[in-house]
Amino acid sequence: MSELSASALDLLVADLGDMTVIRDHKVVRRRSRDFFWYSPILNDLLNDKSADLIVVPRDENEVIRLAAACARHRVPLTVRAGGTGNYGQAVPLKGGVLLDIMALSAIEWTAPGTIRAGAGAKLSAIDADLQPTGWELRMHPSTKRTATIGGFVAGGSGGIGSVTYGGLREPGNIQAARIVSVEETPRVIELRGEAAQKINRAYGTTGIITALEMPLAPAWRWIDVVVCFDDFLDAVAVGYEAALADGITKKLLSPISWPLPSYFGALRPCVADGQSILIAMIAEPSLESFKSLLGRRGTISLETLTDDSPGQVPLYEYTWNHTTLQVLKSDRTVTYLQCLYPHDGLMEKVAEMEALFPDEVLQHLEFIRFGGRVTCSGLPVVRYRGAERLNEIIRMHEQRGVFIANPHVYTVEDGSRYKRADADQLGFKREVDPHNLLNPGKMRSFVAAGS
Ligand SMILES: Cc1cc2nc3c(=O)[nH]c(=O)nc-3n(C[C@H](O)[C@H](O)[C@H](O)COP(=O)(O)OP(=O)(O)OC[C@H]3O[C@@H](n4cnc5c(N)ncnc54)[C@H](O)[C@@H]3O)c2cc1C
Repeated sequence: MSELSASALDLLVADLGDMTVIRDHKVVRRRSRDFFWYSPILNDLLNDKSADLIVVPRDENEVIRLAAACARHRVPLTVRAGGTGNYGQAVPLKGGVLLDIMALSAIEWTAPGTIRAGAGAKLSAIDADLQPTGWELRMHPSTKRTATIGGFVAGGSGGIGSVTYGGLREPGNIQAARIVSVEETPRVIELRGEAAQKINRAYGTTGIITALEMPLAPAWRWIDVVVCFDDFLDAVAVGYEAALADGITKKLLSPISWPLPSYFGALRPCVADGQSILIAMIAEPSLESFKSLLGRRGTISLETLTDDSPGQVPLYEYTWNHTTLQVLKSDRTVTYLQCLYPHDGLMEKVAEMEALFPDEVLQHLEFIRFGGRVTCSGLPVVRYRGAERLNEIIRMHEQRGVFIANPHVYTVEDGSRYKRADADQLGFKREVDPHNLLNPGKMRSFVAAGS
């Protein structure tokens, strides 16, 4: 239970009328968690945090009524969607209401190249809905089958598709957002174009997102490919060439070093002992060109149509933050980092970092576009030897020009590469959350007026 008085919560619930409210302590506690346990540091900090109750609005009108009641009674409100965030993003630090947004899942409309969907729409449902139109989302996290579009924009950064389109932060990758403010009389605000960045990766501290308008990409028949190499750096070199080859249509290029593939369950038989791999998703018409670029440098051990229908495990569930999860399934002594490599001298930098931490930092890269250049996001698996050593490893990366978005902290600022909140987001929060009720504590530099 938080420090909120039972009477404030009772008054709030009384204001909600027939809205669904869940007060069962066990259920509330379970749903107040996400994947923060990837980090032993966050596990210690967040393990005992919980909301006081869950509210499940049926539609945007109920979201507005809930926002008004929270403002009136000064009760904190944290939005929860799929609950797949990695840094305790959806864990309420100060109790209060957990707003389950999943019922806002309707597709509002689609047009060639654009979709407008409720924030609670699952990414897999959106792509399934779009399938007959020949379009799909430009990018999705590897949690596509459980995460929502609202959670991705509020908490994520990029993923499968970012090798072509960059991350969510690139101009044009979020077209518009509709949000509800948390005030006694909530406002519904449409943020278009660059203004939509005010809610991007703000962990739900700058408004309750109720709908998003997202740009689409042509939906190809994607082919899942695993290529095996004796040397990790060869996997990186081929991935880099394929990432730079604009004529080859791809959605994923992930070099992963041995021994990480030894943890890969169903994929394990595709990789011989000691081999590193490049996981790729290539558009069917580009497969021949990809193979010719590869030449004899590696051996293809899997080539199959991407299938992420229920019951299947698509190849992308071995990439991005899933790579670490595959290892954690059998070894809880590891954790991970999130790195951004410089695009200049990329191959040399990757070789330098690989040599710096043999057996301690196990290399896993994702090719991405960043500001129009091709580079790598690194999600290495780290053998955990305590917080002090982890922070030293972070420093050693940063001293060498490899930026870290620290996944062992829970605030927007500390988790960002810049270590500060975006000025636009901070200013906007003042307008839409004047009482600092939205996921309080996550945007640490925000100070509510009068406090
Ligand atoms: C195995 C694994 C793999 C992952 N792979 C990737 C990846 O490839 N790329 C990536 O970017 N991330 C990845 N993530 C992180 C996470 O899965 C994604 O960011 C995902 O999109 C979060 O969506 P969700 O619906 O689960 O959101 P939640 O976890 O429920 O919420 C995430 C954050 O957004 C806020 N929020 C959610 N909905 C709203 C809303 N409607 N309005 C306001 N705030 C809201 C929450 O309060 C919270 O702060 C991964 C995580 C795991 C565990």
